[in-house]
Amino acid sequence: MKPFCFADGQIISTEKASIHPMDLGLIRGYGIFDFFRTVNFKALFLDSYLDRFFASAEKTFLPLDYSRAELKTVIQDLIEKNHLKEGGIRMVLSGGVSPNHFSPAKGKLFIFAESLIFPAQEKYEKGIKLLSLEYVRPIAEIKTTNYAFPVWDSMRWKDAGAEDVLYHMNGIISESSRSNFFIVKDGVISTPDVHVLMGITRKHIIELAGDVQIRPISMQEALNADEAFITSTTKVLLPVTQIDDHEIGTGRPGPVSLDLLAKFRELEKELCY
Ligand code: PLP
Repeated sequence: MKPFCFADGQIISTEKASIHPMDLGLIRGYGIFDFFRTVNFKALFLDSYLDRFFASAEKTFLPLDYSRAELKTVIQDLIEKNHLKEGGIRMVLSGGVSPNHFSPAKGKLFIFAESLIFPAQEKYEKGIKLLSLEYVRPIAEIKTTNYAFPVWDSMRWKDAGAEDVLYHMNGIISESSRSNFFIVKDGVISTPDVHVLMGITRKHIIELAGDVQIRPISMQEALNADEAFITSTTKVLLPVTQIDDHEIGTGRPGPVSLDLLAKFRELEKELCY
């Protein structure tokens, strides 16, 4: 965590940030957040992330007393004060202290600056393994702070030598615990349509690819795909070369995945340098 954050309406020392222990964020796991990267001191795709943050606040009935312009000013100040050339910014809005300890209240807004470490290069070169898991995220479209299940479950993936999980229900895939999922078959790229967070990386990968089918994808299709990959802010695009004990495609990252990753990196440079 970097030395300065935004809390209680001002930029303060991060170690002084505090929250009431009875906040719904703590006692009910109720709150929202968003997370984006800085590239060369610029907030990458900031408007897309702010759109999603405002939408999450509205959908969770949590008042957010700041305008887009005000948040942008705070974020710029934080990037400068923390010298955050390449890093992450986390916006968190808690559920607030509720009179009945249940109904959404007026929460506290925090904005933190963080250092960010990408997955090891080897994972981009060799691909990763996902463990399939019958589960669907509750209110998956909203970026809530509720990750209790995957945090708990992650101890199991580590033991199985997997990078993450692949959620599916009744044979239909939704997403991974913190990333979106794509397959490539005969040159056609597809990604699940429902029970997913509308990832900002997903959105830009879809734009870069030009033609992506957004539709239900079965587990069987994924196992028979030529390529698969996950996308997220902190990973960008990681090739998936194994699901459970099944090798995907050739068992190596495929050309479509690697081309999209290269295009995303190019876009980043164009926008931020
Ligand atoms: N799906 C879930 C459940 C996530 O938590 C995330 C990111 O944290 C994503 C997808 C990817 O979204 P983004 O590309 O906006 O980081």
